[in-house]
Amino acid sequence: MLLVTYATYMSNLNTAIGAWGMTLPVLFYFLNSIRPGFIFSIMYLFIYTWILVGVYNIQSIKPLANFVLAYLIVWGIAHVYEKNRLKNQAQLTVLALKDPLTNANNLLALRHDFEQRTKAEKDVGLAMLDIDFFKKVNDTYGHDVGDDILMQLVELFQQKVSEKDVYRTGGEEFVLLFDASEDEALKVLKEISTETEHKIFNCSNGNNINVTLSCGFIHFSATALQEPNSLSKMLKTADLLLYHAKEQGRNQIITREN
Ligand code: GH3
Ligand code: MG
Ligand code: MG
Repeated sequence: MLLVTYATYMSNLNTAIGAWGMTLPVLFYFLNSIRPGFIFSIMYLFIYTWILVGVYNIQSIKPLANFVLAYLIVWGIAHVYEKNRLKNQAQLTVLALKDPLTNANNLLALRHDFEQRTKAEKDVGLAMLDIDFFKKVNDTYGHDVGDDILMQLVELFQQKVSEKDVYRTGGEEFVLLFDASEDEALKVLKEISTETEHKIFNCSNGNNINVTLSCGFIHFSATALQEPNSLSKMLKTADLLLYHAKEQGRNQIITREN
């Protein structure tokens, strides 16, 4: 912008060097996205108007009107294009990172978020939860009822931990991440487990159903998280603990200590 302003200011109007100004809105939006793009575009419009009127003291409105109208069209196209691009990007991000049934985050999101968490150098707790005898629920009441339960369960999780920390990693399997201490995380998990056990899931065809959860929980210190493949290790251990929870009768939380 400075270069074009300087060149326009210094040169003769006959060189039409001001035409370079037309390229600026596209560059502003391309390089800076929507807000700065808008601000710089309006700034340059004023600058150019000032050069024509203030510096060259043009008597006819025509050169100014020609520039402004053409500039507004280029600016408008750049603005609409960038707005659509951002909208599409947001939609694609949701499609890539969210489970469409429950709106929980998916496994890809977990991998991405976990990487961010390890960079934050804080402890992380990971709970793997699996609905008990869910196949029986589907077989008895139908797949739609099963879907209703999955959705309501995710709502319950999202009330107990932040929405961003709830992941659906498999059919009826979920991961919750905690940055709280191990004790606090376990307290929340116990609440989730008890509330699920006592919750009556109101399903679409009028059935009221109870389900229980089995859970494996693992807590990693910030140092342990720095080791390679820490997410895989946590998932593997949580899965093993979940398996023990199933083996020992289901509807329980197993941590590394018990
Ligand atoms: P366990 O207590 O050992 O976990 O038994 P389970 O029946 O829950 O486990 P199993 O792995 O045998 O069955 C999981 C069932 O989850 C089978 C499948 O029909 C159901 N399921 C997976 N994804 C979905 C889904 O998106 N919707 C519905 N309704 N059911 C699903
Ligand atoms: Mg299950
Ligand atoms: Mg399962």
